[in-house]
Order: sequence, then structure tokens, then C-alpha cells
Amino acid sequence: MTAVGVRMLGMRRSFGAVHALDGLDLVIEPGEFIALLGPSGCGKTTALRVLAGFETADAGTVWVGDKDITGTPPNKRDMGMVFQAFSLFPNLTAADNVAFGLRVRGVDSAARRKRAADLLELVGLGHVGKRYPHQLSGGQQQRVALARALAIEPRVLLLDEPLSALDAQVRVQLRDEIRRIQQRLGITTLFVTHDQGEALSVADRVGVMRAGRLEQLADPDTLYHRPATPFVGEFVGTMNRLPGVLGSDGTVRVLGADRPVAEGSDAVPGEVAVLVRPEAMTLSASETGSALVVVRTFHGALTRLSVRLGDGDEALVDLPSPAAAGIMPGDTVTVGVGEGPVLVAATDATRIPA
Ligand code: ATP
Repeated sequence: MTAVGVRMLGMRRSFGAVHALDGLDLVIEPGEFIALLGPSGCGKTTALRVLAGFETADAGTVWVGDKDITGTPPNKRDMGMVFQAFSLFPNLTAADNVAFGLRVRGVDSAARRKRAADLLELVGLGHVGKRYPHQLSGGQQQRVALARALAIEPRVLLLDEPLSALDAQVRVQLRDEIRRIQQRLGITTLFVTHDQGEALSVADRVGVMRAGRLEQLADPDTLYHRPATPFVGEFVGTMNRLPGVLGSDGTVRVLGADRPVAEGSDAVPGEVAVLVRPEAMTLSASETGSALVVVRTFHGALTRLSVRLGDGDEALVDLPSPAAAGIMPGDTVTVGVGEGPVLVAATDATRIPA
């Protein structure tokens, strides 16, 4: 089957005074895996439910390929879904759960059995077809749920936090498995998650939502290294907030140096917050330095140092571990901001909760 693209254009959905979707535009290319990420309440789940047809938008259109499906009921949308909660039918075996949608579609029993067995094999559960959900682990149940979603050969796969109820190790395994299967089938996929590591590691592109709209939709590398706005920069990965003074010439003074201001910055000249990733900081041991190392944590290739700056603010500095070898808590150091443009935000810009 050839993959289809999905378009959601101008989507609006309010619940009373809350604008869950506030003019959302989202275009997913055929066969693409998109993850939607964003703080709690930004509208991720509502976007997915509107796409599935479970929620009716107040305005906007939904397209699959060149077909407008805005008014199409959920069961006619040709979409497979996996939810967060274990949603298998408890009184059906794993195989019957997988075959359920085929039965509803009138596929004969021999073909159903064959397809269920093939799909259980695909998700690595060839041996559990006869078991009931309560005889399966959480990870196995989600694999069955994935097989069930794929059984009807949907054109679009929708995943609503499918991993969040699983423990860490199973979560990573199943995440990678979902990606492998998605690539093998080439199925257009939307994955909603609040876990940025999850989103960045599996998706072709990640959409960061804020207040019912997409703030940026980009591949993980661009999102991390060239965030379109301070909000995206602070939401994805870790950013230091350093005090700076923005001039009217497109440079900002921070930690004693002038740096060019990155695109997407949204502050006016004067006192600003300069956003810098820990690995973009510089640090050198110096008895006359004005910063103090307070904590040191080892992370394999990198070592993270928490330093207290002269003005009392704290900053995180990630150094390649060999470079951090002799630097210990209590040492006096000089810290700076590496070369290259820096993102600048108004000091009173809303901070994102950790
Ligand atoms: P989370 O990560 O917490 O699941 P989310 O980004 O998925 O959040 P949504 O579930 O889409 O956010 O909700 C967006 C906003 O709309 C929230 O303020 C939420 O309280 C509100 N909302 C969603 N569904 C309903 C509903 N059925 N009735 C009333 N308000 C709703």
C-alpha cells in the first residue's frame, strides 16, 4: 500500500474558555513519523482525537491524501490507534484481540487466524496467541494492542502515549520496536507524548505545541540546535538562563563577552535572559575566577559541573570528561559562553516547569 499524507488545517477546538486547539496547522508527509510534544494541556491529545474523529473540531479541515475526512466517522477513517491504558478486550485471547477488527470487517476465520498470527509474529509475540490479557505483561499487552491496530492495515497509525504505563527498560525496547515496525510498513504515524527523549529518539520530525498551536515542527537535530523560539529551546533539552544585556546592534553582552543574537530571539534591548545549553558553555580552572564549582556529576562521555556565578546564579556546564578530569567542587573557575549566536529571551518570559 502506498503511504498517504495527513493534513490538519486551521483546527480550532474550545472547551468553554479553554482553547485546546487554537488554529493548529499540521502537515504529515506520506510515511512520516511525527511526534507531538509539549507541556501538559497544550492540546496534543485533542489534536490526535480530532484526527481520529473522536473529537469534532469547531473549525478546520482534516485531510488524508487528497480526501477531506473532516466529517467522516472514526470507524471509516482507516486509522489504527494505540492508547496509553491497556485497552485489550479482557475476555478475548491475544489472537482474537488482534483479529477483532477483521471480524467486524467480515474477513473469514481462516484468513483472520493467519493475519493475527503474522501480526503477533511481527511484534515479537508469536507464542502468546492463546493467552488472555491478564496472562501478559504490560509490555506484551501493548505489543498486542499495536498488532491489533495494524491488523486492519490502516493508512494512518495514531499512538497516544502508548509507552507511559511501562517501566523504563520495556519502554525503550517497545519504543525502538514501534519505530522498526513503522519504518518497515512505511505507515504514516502520529505519536503523542510528553517525554521529549522518546519524541526525539524515534520521530522523523517533532512538533512542539504550545497553547493549541505548533510552535515548531522540525527534525530532532534542528529542534535541539536551532530552536525557533526561546520556548522551544527551553522545552527541549536543558538551557541555562544567564543574565545579559541586549544592545541595539544585534549583539548581547553575557559573562563578559559579546555574542551575536540567534534568530527567534524575542527580547527588546536592555536586560535579558541569555539561553545557553550546558555543552555550549566554556570553563577553565583559574584561581582568580569568579565562579565556584558546587557539584560534579559523571555521565560517561560528559561530566556535568554546576557552578555558582559571581552574582549568585547557578549554571550547568557539560565538558568532555577528560577535560573535566581535575576540576572538583570547591574549585574556583572562569566560565563563559562559547562562540556562535545565542538565543535571547525577555527576563519575564514564562519559564517552563521542569
Ligand atoms: P496532557 O499532556 O496533560 O495530556 P495535552 O497536551 O494532551 O495534555 P489536551 O488533553 O489536548 O492536552 O487538553 C488541552 C486543554 O483542553 C486542557 O486545558 C484540557 O483541560 C482541555 N480539555 C481537553 N479535553 C476536554 C474536555 N473533554 N472537556 C473540557 N476540557 C477539556
